[in-house]
Amino acid sequence: GPAPEADGEARAWLKRHEATFGHFIAGKFAAPASGKHLTTIEPATGKTLARIAQGIAADVEAAVGAARSAQSSWAKLGGHGRARHLYALARMLQRHARLFAVLEAIDNGKPIRETRDLDVPLAARHFLYHAGWAQLQEREFVDHVPVGVVGQIIPWNFPLLMLAWKIAPALATGNTVVLKPAEFTSLTALLFAELAAEAGLPPGVLNVVTGDGATGALLVENPGVDKIAFTGSTEVGRLIRQSTAGSGKSLTLELGGKSPFIVFDDADLDGAVEGVVDAIWFNQGQVCCAGSRLLLQEGIAETFRKRLIRRMETLRVGPPLDKAIDMGAVVAPVQLERIKALVETGVKEGAEKYQAPGPIPAEGCFYPPTLLWNVHPSSTVAIEEIFGPVLVAMTFRTPDEAVMLANNTRYGLAASVWSETIGLALDIAPKLQAGVVWVNATNLFDASVGFGGYRESGFGREGGREGLYEYLKPKAWSGRKARAKV
Ligand code: NAD
Repeated sequence: GPAPEADGEARAWLKRHEATFGHFIAGKFAAPASGKHLTTIEPATGKTLARIAQGIAADVEAAVGAARSAQSSWAKLGGHGRARHLYALARMLQRHARLFAVLEAIDNGKPIRETRDLDVPLAARHFLYHAGWAQLQEREFVDHVPVGVVGQIIPWNFPLLMLAWKIAPALATGNTVVLKPAEFTSLTALLFAELAAEAGLPPGVLNVVTGDGATGALLVENPGVDKIAFTGSTEVGRLIRQSTAGSGKSLTLELGGKSPFIVFDDADLDGAVEGVVDAIWFNQGQVCCAGSRLLLQEGIAETFRKRLIRRMETLRVGPPLDKAIDMGAVVAPVQLERIKALVETGVKEGAEKYQAPGPIPAEGCFYPPTLLWNVHPSSTVAIEEIFGPVLVAMTFRTPDEAVMLANNTRYGLAASVWSETIGLALDIAPKLQAGVVWVNATNLFDASVGFGGYRESGFGREGGREGLYEYLKPKAWSGRKARAKV
């Protein structure tokens, strides 16, 4: 197969910083007020990768202060001025695409093929798209003003892409940002902030404070923050909703999912099998909208199972920088243990387990592609988000039963429907409680389409025109004509 991607440039960047990072505040790295660091590991090897700062209240205050000082001049720059910066950020990402792709693969464990072809280009596309909107702002968002200083908290599954989804619309509309990346995967955010400053982004417009959940909570509670935008687990989303209630802060939440993947008897089965591979084994299944519940119509269930298992036998699990692999490592030992425990529960509750037989590396956080067959709709693995490469399968008889099973969840992020009868698909789609329904497709994302959930998957949208309104406040103007001075 092809040679593994060389990681020299990423290792050199780490070395230049002695693999120890402060926060990024007001345009430069700042040592943590506590003097304390957290260790982050390389999931594919288990080895220490770097030390990141553990943010405490003083760090959060400094970052919020820097964002506050920068906000009015950033807003006054106007749409065209900000667009120039967003284009520069997109070009910066493109220029350093390889460095970002390799660093992300090392830090997160995901395959280089995915970071190179998806995470990095989609992140750049997000800045390009929002640069376009920034130029239109004065005409398209009349009577709207920026929210102000925004605190943004992101998860570890798409570190750079989630950064782009968060900061591009916020900066385009005249806000300044304090970003708290996930503690497992803060490195691409720190690299981004450093290179953004080099590309001329004014100090204080983008600040990065690292640390664990406690640091996130300090950002949520900081009175200088006007809005919190959070992506992560439903549990933490609920805590944030409680702690911001009555504070006057606005809030958007992008939370978990347990999305149905529905295959009817008349579907293109080979297409649907490929769809499943993308739905649940892309990014090791650590995808909020992963098609993690496979709902099969009874007539094709057995055929589908056989074809799916045959396809699973071809999937290769291995080191992220190997360009020939399909799946890398999951993000951290704690996640690996969680996945293992849930699969055990599934088997105890009566599911048949099938795992791809291919070899997996002995060291590191690797887990094979897994299918749980004959899962009862009320069993734990049918209800809980596993957030790993584990698909649970159930069967149904009628379209009504498919809709009932699909909606039998507290979540509502995405759904995928497979049928060659377009009338059937179009009849089902509106009945599915999900922010997006894909027909004969899965995981289609575009910066121009607002992404977000129903029910316990959260509220608010990222992307599209609707995503910009999340960072703007309506402002009504009225009054009388001034009396002419005598
Ligand atoms: P998590 O909620 O544990 O952590 C997310 C972020 O919140 C991290 O930066 C973490 O440090 C921070 N955090 C933790 N506790 C906090 C607190 N009390 N106050 C403030 N911040 C806190 O989630 P995770 O394990 O990193 O990510 C996995 C989850 O994210 C899954 O449920 C997944 O479905 C969801 N997710 C959703 C989307 C979406 O767009 N809907 C996208 C990606 C991931």
